Amino acid sequence: MIEVESISKAYDKHTVVSDISFEIAVGKTLVLLGTSGSGKTTILKMINRLVDPDAGSIRVEGDDISQIKPEVLRRKMGYVIQQSGLFPHYSVGENIGLVPTLLGWSTDRIEQRVQELVEVVGLPEYYTNRYPHELSGGQQQRVGIARALAVDPPIVLMDEPFGALDPITKQQMIREFASLGMLRKKTVVLVTHDVLEAFTLGDHICLLDQGKIQQFGTPKELLFHPKNDFVRSFFRAQQLRLGLEVTVLKDIVQPDDGRLSTYSLEKSAITFLDSTNVFTVLDKLEEEDASQFVVERTQGEDIVLDRQQLIQWFFEYEQR
Ligand code: ADP
Repeated sequence: MIEVESISKAYDKHTVVSDISFEIAVGKTLVLLGTSGSGKTTILKMINRLVDPDAGSIRVEGDDISQIKPEVLRRKMGYVIQQSGLFPHYSVGENIGLVPTLLGWSTDRIEQRVQELVEVVGLPEYYTNRYPHELSGGQQQRVGIARALAVDPPIVLMDEPFGALDPITKQQMIREFASLGMLRKKTVVLVTHDVLEAFTLGDHICLLDQGKIQQFGTPKELLFHPKNDFVRSFFRAQQLRLGLEVTVLKDIVQPDDGRLSTYSLEKSAITFLDSTNVFTVLDKLEEEDASQFVVERTQGEDIVLDRQQLIQWFFEYEQR
């Protein structure tokens, strides 16, 4: 649990973070979203005491962090930055094993942990002997993530972790990252200006402008119930795509619509869990050149649906 209470920060009398409060529950991901200069990185840095607030307080697992030595606090937190921040003269294995080495782990234990993490982030084992310049940007970023997870910290702070990647690699890594089991129990704070990244990864989003919170809520709340014009206009360009991403089959499939089960079904029909988002469904149908599909429901019987009906229901749902 991270509790941020009324923190503010000014540089040369210019306020960059103004009276910010929020909480992040254990195991959840909070995205700090906003344009460049809105104060995101400053807030992130205050959470691990790279920067101290002028006013307000931050508690981590119930303790006021101003009372904790930075090096002790940081042991609880992995930190991932843009362009990975790897040490160029250390091999991949040495980079990942950096913090365990500082903590005095045995060589065997470090080696085992490095192997484990290399696998978790999807790199071949023999990459541990390579140097950062021998890796692509995406691979370096994977090493950066592995390094942040090295001592299994309960909290992970990430500052534009996918920011330097080309759009395709970026999309792929965001999807992989979203399904990384190792992160599921961790409390993550992620800074980004990318709305798609925020919507894919965030349980909650804190949308900032000029150091102030414009809205804090779930992706759905921000998209479907924007509090003000700033929030509305921030998402406008990507409204449809984001809507498709945050809406899952369960939201829009009517529980008692028996009419659908009369559809004749092709043998090879694709099946989706009702927790699948509409974007993923449409994308897969397009890829497979299919129209009908089965929705496997957590409550109620499985039903058959087609693409046209799905799109119609999505728009009806959005109007509600
Ligand atoms: P973001 O991460 O949203 O891009 P930052 O938190 O990095 O924003 O910066 C917010 C504002 O604070 C910017 O205007 C930036 O120039 C200013 N700022 C950040 N760090 C310092 C610093 N050490 N000294 C002076 N100004 C700073």
